[in-house]
Amino acid sequence: MRQPLIAGNWKMNATRTSAEALLSGVIAGASALSKTEIVVCPPFPFLSLGERLLSGTAVKLGAQNVCTKDAGAYTGEVSAAMLAEFGCRYVICGHSERREYYGETDAVIAEKLRACATQDMIPILCVGETLQQRQQELTEQVIAGQIDGVISQIGIEAFNQTVIAYEPVWAIGTGMTATPEQAQEVHAFIRQKIADRSQAIAEKIRILYGGSMKAANAPDLLSQHDIDGGLIGGASLIADDFLAICRAGDLVAS
Ligand code: PEP
Repeated sequence: MRQPLIAGNWKMNATRTSAEALLSGVIAGASALSKTEIVVCPPFPFLSLGERLLSGTAVKLGAQNVCTKDAGAYTGEVSAAMLAEFGCRYVICGHSERREYYGETDAVIAEKLRACATQDMIPILCVGETLQQRQQELTEQVIAGQIDGVISQIGIEAFNQTVIAYEPVWAIGTGMTATPEQAQEVHAFIRQKIADRSQAIAEKIRILYGGSMKAANAPDLLSQHDIDGGLIGGASLIADDFLAICRAGDLVAS
């Protein structure tokens, strides 16, 4: 059985004070959970705080982005080595907001996965279709393209150390959630795509669902066969809400 993973994507939210309170709340609640792997991904300025507070706890630290380059004249960028130095284990790569607002292509995202590998960090590769693409019945084609675009550049072996997050763009931050059946269908498709290249990797790779997951819908989503956890935006900003989803992860793993 794949261990459930619940990762909180804080996006560009929190202040130093609220970040400290949120981290402390998550740490306190997480100590009662044993089956779910819990990750928080604060903005870059709070990684140092995260490293300090999470040290010695089971909650892991992640980043929301990484530069494709190792070092040098890339103003405003943050390298994989810097993230690793501050204790990051995970890095969200190719979030739809980065694809849409910052023009990240599959080729760039593949380079980000490669950068993560140099530091033994685990990328959370986000894929997902827009509402228009879903309505045009292009969901599988879009997702296949996003996954193939990465595999063709860095190879299937990189997925030994990768988490995939299926995040339908129309469900992110909208309150609209894919039904458990809709999500399961796409997750099964993603796992089959990986299986076409490597059955062993397909069986062990964790595929998270992301898109308005909250305490109320988490149990049904997480109990789907191919849903191995969640990437949580809005609900990760309130410790109790985030922990309720983590508890749902623990329950399905029991
Ligand atoms: C996300 O941005 O990754 C996300 C899933 O956001 P939300 O939970 O707010 O829909």
